[in-house]
Amino acid sequence: MSNVLIIGAGGVGGVVTHKCAQVPEVFSEICLASRTLERCERIKAQLSRPIRTAKVDADKPAEVVALIKDFRPAVVINVALPYQDLPIMDACLETGVDYLDTANYEPPNEAKFCYKWQWDYQDRFKQAGIMALLGCGFDPGVTNIFCAHAQKRHFDDIHTIDIVDCNAGDHGHPFATNFNPEINIREVTQRGKYYENGQWIEIDPMSVKMSFDYPGVGPKDSYLLYHEELESLAKNIKGVRRIRFWMTFGQEYLTHLRVLQNVGMTRIDPVEFEGHQIVPLKFLKALLPDPSSLGVGYKGKTCIGCVVEGIKDGKPKKYFVYNICDHAECYKEVKAQAVSYTTGVPAMIGAMMMLTGKWRGKGVFNVEEFDPAPFMEKLNQHGLPWIETNL
Ligand code: NDP
Repeated sequence: MSNVLIIGAGGVGGVVTHKCAQVPEVFSEICLASRTLERCERIKAQLSRPIRTAKVDADKPAEVVALIKDFRPAVVINVALPYQDLPIMDACLETGVDYLDTANYEPPNEAKFCYKWQWDYQDRFKQAGIMALLGCGFDPGVTNIFCAHAQKRHFDDIHTIDIVDCNAGDHGHPFATNFNPEINIREVTQRGKYYENGQWIEIDPMSVKMSFDYPGVGPKDSYLLYHEELESLAKNIKGVRRIRFWMTFGQEYLTHLRVLQNVGMTRIDPVEFEGHQIVPLKFLKALLPDPSSLGVGYKGKTCIGCVVEGIKDGKPKKYFVYNICDHAECYKEVKAQAVSYTTGVPAMIGAMMMLTGKWRGKGVFNVEEFDPAPFMEKLNQHGLPWIETNL
């Protein structure tokens, strides 16, 4: 029985709160905190169980420290934005509380996400005797756990991993992003990159694509992107020779994105406008639909998984493990679309692993460093069943 503090009342924060509320035997008290209190109140009103809400600016560690001292959580689940990762980790260090997030840090003025900044907390977390669990959403998160499961149960040697991510849903808007628009557009407009034979190979954005036949969806064009789990998997999956990440995009999305880029609306540097400094991408975010509002009427499915090739008992093997998630079903359960759902459920399960002692350690960890079995079992019980097959 432990208190949990959830920071960030967006699309993912709503799902984490709903899912923690469904497991009172682990999460005895819940506090949902965000910059805008009304957003917390809106989520609170959807629940059948009372929770606490609070206003916090997580860019300011002192505000997070004060909230932690008052509420006394056993773990902080950070589902605000990647910019808040370090200030929240600082607050956890100061108060001796465990930490979990779903996206790695990136500095606001440079679209460059990598684990270095957070891995650098390793010694400080170890010395403080506390634990940080990084990247515990779906991708990163479940995809890393799928790889650890493949390594443990299905292969003697893993040669290649292809992570395939398809959202075949229709939200009815000409252009919208399924998670925070600023973070999403920064991610997809940067140069692509994959890992091969100990090296990182860079490509132009969206310049490599393949068609992949997604179960429950059908064949879809999938584009090679850089994604943060590649960095930790290249380190933690022993002997892997190549890891790539593929994501589907509809033609409408790509056309809008190209136009927005061409006219400068995806720039992240400040621009002088009528006497004010504005960042075009932040302004664009203010115009686009809020990801947490997309759930109503969202139809279709997501399918995300890992294709793994290697050797088992001296023979070549190709294996696929994946989840299919239905937008409308998610909305029925927790008033959210499937991208928020597939991120929020693993964040809740990760916190559950930490609080029940299934995953324990002192320091900073990526999810694939722990035993995948108890986590995979909970995925089946809490709304994200997985399927595995040989190809
Ligand atoms: P949203 O934009 O819907 O929500 C983010 C929330 O963070 C907002 O509601 C905002 O609150 C809050 N926030 C922003 N800045 C602060 C701050 N300084 N202090 C307190 N709260 C703050 O995004 P999503 O819910 O879609 O995404 C949340 C996170 O999940 C992101 O980091 C994203 O990268 C990650 N993610 C991870 C995935 C995975 O599979 N691993 C997939 C999808 C998302 P307010 O409105 O109150 O200002």
